[in-house]
Amino acid sequence: MKIFNDFSLKHYNTFGLNYNCAAFIEVEFAEEIYSINKMFELSETEHLIIGQGSNILFTKDFDGIVIHPTFNNFSMKSQDNNFLYLEVEAGKNWDELVRYSVGKNLGGIENLVSIPGLAGAAPIQNIGAYGQEIKDVIEFVHFFDFNDNIFKVFHNRQCRFDYRNSIFKQELKNKIFITSIEIKLKKNPTPVIDYGNVKDELFKSGIKNPSVNDVCNIIANIRENKLPSPKEIGNAGSFFKNPIVSNSKFEELKKSYPDIPFFEVGENQIKIPAAWLIEKSGFKGKVKGNVGTYHKQPLVIVNFGNASGNEILDFANEIKTKIFVEFGIELESEVNIL
Ligand SMILES: Cc1cc2nc3c(=O)[nH]c(=O)nc-3n(C[C@H](O)[C@H](O)[C@H](O)COP(=O)(O)OP(=O)(O)OC[C@H]3O[C@@H](n4cnc5c(N)ncnc54)[C@H](O)[C@@H]3O)c2cc1C
Repeated sequence: MKIFNDFSLKHYNTFGLNYNCAAFIEVEFAEEIYSINKMFELSETEHLIIGQGSNILFTKDFDGIVIHPTFNNFSMKSQDNNFLYLEVEAGKNWDELVRYSVGKNLGGIENLVSIPGLAGAAPIQNIGAYGQEIKDVIEFVHFFDFNDNIFKVFHNRQCRFDYRNSIFKQELKNKIFITSIEIKLKKNPTPVIDYGNVKDELFKSGIKNPSVNDVCNIIANIRENKLPSPKEIGNAGSFFKNPIVSNSKFEELKKSYPDIPFFEVGENQIKIPAAWLIEKSGFKGKVKGNVGTYHKQPLVIVNFGNASGNEILDFANEIKTKIFVEFGIELESEVNIL
């Protein structure tokens, strides 16, 4: 392990904010977390696990210990006629893993291409994009429990995956350290192309029977054209979750906004794109000082260079208030605010 005191987190959050933490520990082997926990009594000490910080907004210095996994091996556990089972350590770059599996013509995570972050963080909010979610490929999540001081493993069902949510973002938040995930990838994949403009883009490219590689490339291109790269403009992807409302609330909204887009998500539940609500409220491309919404995707709040965490948070709260007043909908942050 490597320990750094009074460490800048500028390169460990994709908003690019220059806040410090009291100590930063690079964990080089999963087993080290056991002695780190003994040494620093993490269940009693303020701490935070950080991957690439692509889903975190810091609003101040972090007066505690930040733990960052660098162990990043992955290996095949087993295979059968239909699936190949991989165990992936927490520090593995997620996008690299997607590209690896696509290169082997394995299916299940190809639509999750270009999502920043590390594999250990992927189950936390059940990452999802273009009709795929990690919950559909997760078999097991291995983690260290700071209170019980032991390694544990959860089967998929125990993770309570939901839309941008899991037990790790709720009851177990800050109580565990995910050390690896086990995923199953399809050997004879059927690409998922029904979401967004994937089908149209495949058609435009003249691809009739797309492989996982084709779908992955198309989605990577769509994302590149639509989303700002954190290397160029600080951001944490979608700032808010898409709100889910009841049928009756939706019917009420439809009377005032007949063009409101929606997805049915359950018997009595409707998901409304937060981007549409933000755009309708006049916030698309809006700039305020050092902060704004991205001109091509209003769900993304960007740091134009010198914003503070609180400036970003105030701007996000302004959007929330406007949407509540206009639509009676309370937006929930997808980004973890610290
Ligand atoms: C440009 C951009 C596009 C994005 N697109 C998408 C998208 O399409 N879909 C999507 O779902 N998300 C998207 N995101 C959000 C983000 O990339 C994901 O949530 C990603 O999984 C976060 O990974 P990370 O390593 O950066 O985690 P961090 O931001 O470092 O951490 C996120 C949370 O997980 C906890 N955590 C991290 N690692 C561990 C661990 N090993 N054990 C326990 N807790 C841990 C942290 O404490 C924190 O609460 C996007 C972000 C950006 C910047």
